[in-house]
Amino acid sequence: MSGCLFCRIVAGTAPSTKVYEDDELYAFLDIRPITRGHTLVVPKVHATDLDDLDAALGARIFTLGHRIAKALRRSDLGADGANLVLNDGKAAFQTVHHVHLHVVPRQHGDRFLFAKGILLRRPHETEATAAAIRAGLDRLDNEEKETRA
Ligand code: 5GP
Ligand code: ZN
Repeated sequence: MSGCLFCRIVAGTAPSTKVYEDDELYAFLDIRPITRGHTLVVPKVHATDLDDLDAALGARIFTLGHRIAKALRRSDLGADGANLVLNDGKAAFQTVHHVHLHVVPRQHGDRFLFAKGILLRRPHETEATAAAIRAGLDRLDNEEKETRA
């Protein structure tokens, strides 16, 4: 959808810092992160909200969010956990009307920093942050390969 910001990001006509991409999904850093590494997972095809989203694609979005949460734990960002949040509809504070899953890394005892992050939402070293998450995804892939071997 040409008027949609996240469709433009997927198409590369609006800028973003990419974390992951495949044929159906795109993951990129939130421009106003709550914590360092705050990532958004979106379907490449436009879907306004959950009513509009194919169920199998919804499952793939969650699977990728799950992998990114695991990658964050394995990354040098030092996450101990993550909040996975999907705001569905205006009533639920959805502001960009192209379905997206938030993956917000958390650390033990970060309550104060998390609260400050909600207020400030400033980007931090975006290229290095995305590279750290991609390295976490590589570590996860290797770990899974070793488990299978
Ligand atoms: P929502 O409230 O709709 O769940 O969240 C929308 C998210 O999109 C917000 O966290 C906001 O910071 C992020 N966002 C809005 N515009 C842009 C943009 O142009 N680029 C990126 N990377 N994120 C954006
Ligand atoms: Zn869209």
